[in-house]
Amino acid sequence: MTSHVADLADPPASPRARFPLRPELGFAKKVRPLGTPGFAAVKLFAPMAANTQQVVGPNKVVAVYFTLKNDAGEVVETNRRGGKPLIYLHGVKAILPGLEQALEGKKKDEQFSVTIPPALAWGDHRPEHVEKVLRSTLPADMNLQVGMLLRGTDPNGRPVAATIVKIEGEEVTLDRNHPLAGKTLHYDVIVAGIRDATREEAMHGHVHGPGDAHH
Ligand code: ZN
Repeated sequence: MTSHVADLADPPASPRARFPLRPELGFAKKVRPLGTPGFAAVKLFAPMAANTQQVVGPNKVVAVYFTLKNDAGEVVETNRRGGKPLIYLHGVKAILPGLEQALEGKKKDEQFSVTIPPALAWGDHRPEHVEKVLRSTLPADMNLQVGMLLRGTDPNGRPVAATIVKIEGEEVTLDRNHPLAGKTLHYDVIVAGIRDATREEAMHGHVHGPGDAHH
């Protein structure tokens, strides 16, 4: 639960190192720009008294539905249409800075749209994170395709990810930037719930769902 926006943007310790890679198909529809894994959305929000007017701010646990679109208006990710709400602890950078800023002060059931520049999202696209490798450095049984996301670990055991952007004969161009690096993001957001964080949640810096109260 400590993952935040910097994870994928960190430069690999050894950019040209070989590492075991696994393909992850259909990635374009499965990006997780919020970097907030492990949400347990079940029964985290009991109905609140009608006169309790909670406002999003530090030490609040917030549930949101959102749709993320790119500049072309295409949906990149959404948890509407039957998805579970995103539930996060406000004020600890569990979500993108631009989204957290936009949520500050909002009330339950409030809806809004926000446009987030790369600097408040996944940062600039860094050309030095694009590199060419030989096909032979990648597992031989892999059916490489442009757009495929490869995941692996570098020699220091740190997770790395790269998108295949070009295949030319024996040369494969990998982009280690986050897929949303350099992109302006357009979010439509609905605040589905707000509650006080428990003392433990505030101390730990994350939301506790059913089943992970002991750690
Ligand atoms: Zn905890």
